[in-house]
Order: sequence, then structure tokens, then C-alpha cells
Amino acid sequence: MLVCKFGGSSLSSEDQFKKVKKIVESNGDRRIIVVSALGKREATDNKLTDLLYVIHTHAKHGISYESLWQEVATRFMTVKTELRLTFDIEAALSRIKADLDQHLLSVDDLVSRGEYLTAHLMSDYLGFNCVDAKDVIIFNASGDVDFKTTQAKLKAKVGTAQVVIPGFYGAYPNGKIKLFGRGGSDISGAIVAASLKATKYENFTDVSGVLVADPRIITDPPAISGLTYEELSELTYMGANVLHEESAHPVRDAGIPIHIKNTNDPDAPGTLICNGTESAATESKVVGISGKKDFLSFTLYKDHMSTELGFLEKALEIFSRYHVNVEHVPTGIDHVGVVVEKASVAHCLEDLVDVLKRELIADEIEIKDGIALMTIVGRQIIDDATFLSRVFAALGTARINISFIAQSPKLLNMIIGVKNEDYITATQALYKELIRCVY
Ligand code: ASP
Repeated sequence: MLVCKFGGSSLSSEDQFKKVKKIVESNGDRRIIVVSALGKREATDNKLTDLLYVIHTHAKHGISYESLWQEVATRFMTVKTELRLTFDIEAALSRIKADLDQHLLSVDDLVSRGEYLTAHLMSDYLGFNCVDAKDVIIFNASGDVDFKTTQAKLKAKVGTAQVVIPGFYGAYPNGKIKLFGRGGSDISGAIVAASLKATKYENFTDVSGVLVADPRIITDPPAISGLTYEELSELTYMGANVLHEESAHPVRDAGIPIHIKNTNDPDAPGTLICNGTESAATESKVVGISGKKDFLSFTLYKDHMSTELGFLEKALEIFSRYHVNVEHVPTGIDHVGVVVEKASVAHCLEDLVDVLKRELIADEIEIKDGIALMTIVGRQIIDDATFLSRVFAALGTARINISFIAQSPKLLNMIIGVKNEDYITATQALYKELIRCVY
């Protein structure tokens, strides 16, 4: 049995619904369908989820939301009318609107209705049952998914039926609805796949898999045919955003492969993500490049730092006290760098510097802004005597200065820091040297 999740762009209009139906009906194993809410039909369009968030804010502040609500209703009504569906969406919409007008809905209640109504329309269209996520995806009191209960509920509710389940939300045991973070339908799909022991988790989106590089920087980059979960994490953590970062965990733990496929080109091979290296279909030692801008580094200077026991521990504890996640810690003899996302220190920069200075008795603290981090994910980089020289030559020829380098202990990837303004050129230079030649 396959669990298939369709993202918002795969569900943006009646034409997209038709493509989904064709995909589902082309393979009888596709019997558990998880859906996002209607997405954008074109670049200037609104995502249903975004509209619902804005409507809730308007309602909270007493600002009229009639025209926004009309936009939501029209999107659903158009799909219903064009596909000649019977689900009474008019009644469902009026109930939600009445509750909204009386301020009875939390943000999570209202926003989850995007997925809920989309699932009802899709189940009507496919002739499948609709199973409400609030009855099967269960959170515990601390807000984490209660896997045991979720699995039991899913098994009982789904059985051998063909079902559509709305993604993005679940409920506490008392029935109160809770959303995952943005893009969370990927997580819902992974939880359903792991709980029902699917043979594969198919994640349908609008690109033909995880791309070797950012398509906003590289024209038409190819998709990576095979990836391990570890390689996927490295790429998504550093900016490749095909799949929600957290969605790999449930399926990876259950040993279920994820297959990322394109709703608009279902015959394209897509990207298969598995445990181990059996997915390593590419000939290239470099699997992909991704990156993010806007990191900041603190360089802490102190004489004899390297012989002061516990110095690093104390420094890192201060960052964690301010809830700042540390990305990298390049070290010297009497100085150490701490690299963090700039946004993560926006709320506390001055305080943090004061406390670091005082508690560490640091001689000096230097702050460098505007750093972009790039990761080059590869296989057996360590065995390739030419790899590093090619990286440095590519960046050197492009006149790009490297501000720091880190290699993962497993030598799965290499991280390079460059200036924000060099990020695009660096990506292009590395792509040309390490990847383009292979495809
Ligand atoms: N519709 C939600 C969002 O836009 C969840 C999802 O699409 O996964 O974030």
C-alpha cells in the first residue's frame, strides 16, 4: 500500500484535481491520500492557508474580512462546480463563517479548515472515504505526536479502505485542533505512512524531485535520482526546501522510502530517498549543493583559551540560555568562532555580547555579519584526492574568498562560508565545476 501526499500546488484548481485523480487511479496501491489546502494557481494568487491566517488576524482585530472570506468560498465553490461534486461545501462554509463571526475559532481551528474542506472535495471526487485528521493524528499534552495512539486510531479508522486524510493538523485527546508548522502536511503524510506501514511514501509536488541546486540560481538543475535520509537532511537543513525537514523522521525510523514526484509530470523518475546507499543512483560523488544567506559569526578572543578547561562549554551554555541555536564552532588557539543565524540573535544581540564578555572574561568579541553558508553534499568525498582542490580552484577562479570551512565528521558534506554578496556566484562556480560536468 502506498501513502500519497499531494501539496497545495497539486490541488490549486479543478485541473490539478484531475491530474491527481489520474495519478491515484493509475495504481491500485495508492489508497491513502493526504492533502494540503488549495495552493496558488499562478504566482500572484493566494494560498488558501495564507488567506485563512489573514482572515483570523482581521477577525481578531475587528477588521472586516468579508471580501477575503468570499475569495476562500469562491475557490472551493469553483472546484465543486467544475467537477460536479456533491459534497455540501456551502453548508460547511456557512458553519465555519458563523463560528468565525462569533469569535469561536482559534487560529488552528480556522486554518485547519483549508485542508479539511480540500480533503472533503477530493474524497468526493475520488469516491474515497474522508477521515478527519483530528480523529487519527493525536498529540500528547506537551504538543508532540502520540505515535502509539495515532497508529491505533489510524489502523482502526482506515483499515483496508481507500481514504483521503487532511494534512497539517491533528488534535489533542480532548479534540482541540492543533496545527503542525507551515508545510506540515508533509509531516502528516509521513506519520500516516509510518503508522500504517506503507511500502512507500509518495510525496507529490510541483518539481520532479530534490534538485541538485537552487533553481532560482541555476537554470533547470536536474533532479537527484537517489538520496539517503542523511543526505536529504543536510540539503534541506541548508535551504533545499522540497520537503519539510521534520517529515523524514517517522518514515526513516520505519524504514519506508520517500519518493518525491511531480504531479505535473508523473512519469519523471523523481527522487527516491532510502536508508543506506542503495538509493545512490547518480554517478556523481557530489549529490547536491544548497545554501542560505544571513548568518553571523561571533569571534571570542581570550589569551590561553585553549588551556582553560570548560571554556567552550561555558560559551555555548550562554548561547543556549538565549535560545540561540549554534550552527558551527570553528576554533583557533586563543580564539573561537560561533556561527549562528542572524535572525536568531535579533532579540538579544546586545545582551548576549555583554554576558559573553562578562562571564567568559573575554578579551574581545568580534562580530561579522552577512555570511552565507553553503553545503556540498557528496559521497565518499574523503576518497577523492581531487575534491578539495576542485572546490578551492572553482571558488578561487571566481575570486571568491572563503570565510570558513567545516567538514562533517562523517565526511558526508562540506560547509563553506562566503560573503552574502558572493553566494550566487559561488553556487554557480561550484555547480559548474562539481555537478554540471556529470549530467
Ligand atoms: N497548507 C499548509 C501550508 O501552506 C500546510 C501544507 O501545505 O503543508 O503551510
